[in-house]
Parts: sequence; C-alpha cells; structure tokens
Amino acid sequence: MAPDSALPATVDGSALAGLALAAAGARHMFGVVGIPVTSLASRAAAAGVRFLAFRNEQSAGYAAAAYGFLTGSPGLLLTVSGPGCVHGLAGLSHATANAWPLLLISGSCSQHDAGKGDFQELDQIAATKPFAKLAVKATSIADIPRLVFQALAATVAGRPGGCYLDIPSDVLHQTLTGSEAASLIAAAAAADSADSSPPKDKALGEGIVKAAELLRRAERPLVVVGKGAAYARAEEVIQKLVDTTGIPFLPTPMGKGVVPDVHPLSATAARSLAIGQCDVALVVGARLNWLLHFGEPPKWSKDVTFILVDVCEDEIELRKPQVGLVGDAKRVIELLNREIKDQPFCLARSHPWVDAITKKTKDNVLKMEAQLVKDVVPFNFMTPMRIIRDAILAEGSPAPVVVSEGANTMDVGRAVLVQNEPRTRLDAGTWGTMGVGLGYCVAAAVAEPGRLVVAVEGDSGFGFSAMEVETLVRYQLPVVVIVFNNNGVYGGDRRSPDELTGPYKDDPAPTSFVPAAAYHKMMEAFGGKGYLVETPEELKSALSESFHARKPAVINVIIDPYAGAESGRMQHKN
Ligand code: ADP
Repeated sequence: MAPDSALPATVDGSALAGLALAAAGARHMFGVVGIPVTSLASRAAAAGVRFLAFRNEQSAGYAAAAYGFLTGSPGLLLTVSGPGCVHGLAGLSHATANAWPLLLISGSCSQHDAGKGDFQELDQIAATKPFAKLAVKATSIADIPRLVFQALAATVAGRPGGCYLDIPSDVLHQTLTGSEAASLIAAAAAADSADSSPPKDKALGEGIVKAAELLRRAERPLVVVGKGAAYARAEEVIQKLVDTTGIPFLPTPMGKGVVPDVHPLSATAARSLAIGQCDVALVVGARLNWLLHFGEPPKWSKDVTFILVDVCEDEIELRKPQVGLVGDAKRVIELLNREIKDQPFCLARSHPWVDAITKKTKDNVLKMEAQLVKDVVPFNFMTPMRIIRDAILAEGSPAPVVVSEGANTMDVGRAVLVQNEPRTRLDAGTWGTMGVGLGYCVAAAVAEPGRLVVAVEGDSGFGFSAMEVETLVRYQLPVVVIVFNNNGVYGGDRRSPDELTGPYKDDPAPTSFVPAAAYHKMMEAFGGKGYLVETPEELKSALSESFHARKPAVINVIIDPYAGAESGRMQHKN
C-alpha cells in the first residue's frame, strides 16, 4: 500500500476503495462504469488495480468469475447501481454456483434519497443476498477499508463463492485526510492477517487411514478429479497419487488437465465403464450433482463406496459418503499420499480393471479417430474440431487456455480437445451458463499472460456476448475466437409438423438465426482480424496465421446446420 506520504491531503470514497483493493492484493477489476462508480475505476487503476472496461456487466461478471478460478484470488466486478447491479447478478450467481471467488462492488443511490425513487434505486443488499456468501454496505467512508478486506476474505473462505459490497453514492463522495485513510487501511490489513491463520484440518487422520485402506483393498478403484481440485492447485499431488497407485482417473470437464489427458490411466474415453463399474471412487473437488449423475444408479453401481474430498463440510453432509474428508484438496491428497507410502500398492497395467479401462479407452479412441480423420465438407462438428485440436496441441507448452460454450460445439469440444495442463479449460460449468465465452477470454488473457486464449464457441453462445470483441481489440488481447456457425441454436429448423401451424408459422424458428451470418465482420468492424472459412485448408491457414499473430481474431466456421443434435448430448433434459 502506498506510504502515507504518497497519499494526497484529501481522499474520497472512490479513491479509498481503490487504495484498499490494491492494499488487499487485487490486481485486476472487470466492469462497466457510469454513475456513481466511474471515478472508483480510475482511482483503482491509479492505485495499481488494472480496470478492464466491458460493454456489458454480464460479460464482465463472467470474466471476474473465471479470474477467480484461474488465479485462486477473488475476481472483482464493478457495476453501477440498480440495473448495473442486476446485470452483475449474472456473474455473482455464476461464481457462487461454480464455487469460484468473486467480489461484486456496486455503487448505489445516495442514502438520504433511498426510498424516494432515486436514480437507479434498488435495495441491492436484498437483491444480491440470495447469490452471495456475504452482502455488506458501507454506510460511511470509514467503513470502506474494513469491508473491502472482509468481503475479499469471505470470497475465498471455506467453499469459494461470490460476495457483495455496496457503496452508496454519498459514501463515494465523502472525504477524509490522507493520513486517516492510511491508518484505516493499515488497521483493516492488520485485522485481516490476524483472522487469516490457516484453518485447522478437521480430524483427518482417521479418515485418511480409512480412505487409503479402501483404495488399497478395492478391486476397481477410480479417482474422479473435479474443478475444485484444479482450483486447489492439487495437480502435483493427484498426479503422484495416480502414478504411485496405478488407479485410473476420470476428470470432470474443468478438472481436465489436472492430470494430463494423454496420461495412460485416463479413463475419459471409457467414462461409462469407469463410473458404472468402479467399486471405490475417490472424488476430489467435485460435487455428486447432475454432471456426475448424482452418484446414483444406473450410471453408478449401487454398491460403490464413495470417498469425498471437499473443502465444504455441508457438501459432505449432503452426500453422506462412506468416507468424507473435509479440507483443501491439495493438503488432503498430500496426506493420503503419505499414508499410502507407508504401505504402498500399485495396480499393474495387466490388472483386470486397469486392463479393461485401457482396452475400452483404446477402442473408443480408435472409433472417434475414425470419425475425426475424415475431412467432411460442408463441415460437421468433428472435422473442424480435429483441425483445431491439432493446432492447439502444436502450440505446446504453455498450453493455450481453451474457452468453450455451446451445445454440440461444447460437447464435441470436450471429447476432442486435449488438456494437458491444469486450468486450461473454461466452459459453461455447473449451471450450464451460456454467454460466458468472451468474458472468460478477457479473464484468461489477463490472468495468464503467457498463454494464447482460444475460444471454441457455438454461434448462439458467441452471440450472448459478441460485442465484447471490441473489448478484445481495445486491450489487444491474444484471443482467437472460433465460431461454429450453424445458423442457430442447435442449428437447422427441427420443428415437427404440428409445431408449424398457427398465425406465426412463417416466422423464423425459435432456434434459427440469420443464415451464414458474417460474424467475422464484427471483429473487422473494430480493427481486429476476421476470417470466413468453409474448408479444412481455409481453417488451417486461419488458425496458423491467428495463433502466430496473438492478436484478437474471429474465425467464422460455416457448419452444416443439420450436423448437430437438438440440445447436444442433453436431449433427455429438453
Ligand atoms: P465439477 O463441476 O468439476 O464436478 P463442482 O463445481 O461440482 O466440480 O465441485 C467443486 C467442489 O470443489 C465444490 O464442492 C467445492 O466446495 C470444492 N472445492 C473448492 N475449493 C476446494 C479446495 N481448495 N479443496 C477441496 N475442495 C474444494
């Protein structure tokens, strides 16, 4: 934090908020400015917190959420009052749903005019509470440093999630002296470090012994790696566990890369067999929710024994596993590795379970490769995805961050694109949120400056936040957005004859967009590079040029509108 002497004689609420954020270690903030927070954004930037100005608060919120996941530090989202705060709820709720740390800071109407119908007035504490772990309001300037530190700490405590800080317009305009500001910030920092002694492990000893014993005695053990493990930076300890025990592992979509996808014990391509037949499943940083079929039959065996590792005690209580290990994934797996080391075991590659998983994987990979190898034109989803996969792999390390959303595009991308490094896949997540893509791209580019960012987006997913291509150009971020353009949500018009009646039967289908939309020209409109591609050669050339340039680009890939399926792989839910 700037020394007292570096502060001006007078500091207002906006400047104090910026200084407090910087003193708390914040480095980036995402948002949309306007009354009453424009000065807060500039003041924060002046204090060393880079402000990334978006075109829409939803996208800025998704950026802040992804930033929290990628860095392990809270993503900051700044909005104006009323409607700005409401738009910010998208990012706040998405962060909480995904267990990622985010702090939403909104300006609000002047306290003396509250209740009278002031400009953009809203009870923002009430609006944010359902989605926030903590929602607090600064009622005077002196509250700001303490609440900034407190709210930031709350985002990462226990299960990470969203928090809200409300700063009314009158508080942003109050002033105090530079030395008062400095001592308030120093006091808040001191109180924060007194509070943040590492949490004590909850009686893990017995659970660790039990977990090791269960895995040792299992006939068909499996390690499931979730995005909580990626968030915990548990990659080294989980890789060690897999390597020393020979147990196959299955990543969730954003758990991909914690152990490289190319690892010989990856069960990704044998998913149904792995979860259907495992007898002991060690689930690390993943909820047994819809993404994991609730841990229930028929997808899982009714006799499976679950060992759950989660930082959140409530999660363990909800799922009632045979063994629950409450704690940070990295720490818990470290302890488990230590326990196993005393009585080591390792499944040989010839072990019937490992052999069955390996064979199934080989079979399925061969089947998929037979589809991928074909150059199908007009493009289906597989041909361009293969070309993109190969271009990404050719980048080597540090691997690009892949951003993915859409129905078919995301489903096919999850199966085809390869993650060999942790936290290099960002997708629609726990809520299946569409519209996250461009915000994620901005977050990934600033959080991981050494990496190229490649977004593989359905045209519908892209459309939710397409205006943010201007943001990419404004900050000259190394982001290549590839749009799978199949003319709409799920592609072609799939209405049944009985849906094609009534007075509006000649309207475009609810799933249809303007055919062959020139999305690449949106990027060109702002001075970025646009490509329209319809053949493998055109796609290869566009990828090679744009990856090399590391400048904002949109590649508009024309896909056969009837190549995909309605709702992608989730038809049963529609
Ligand atoms: P996925 O979508 O990959 O299945 P989920 O979002 O369902 O993952 O689950 C992630 C889980 O990880 C959450 O229950 C969350 O409480 C937990 N978690 C978050 N941080 C940590 C951590 N540091 N250590 C262990 N678990 C964590």
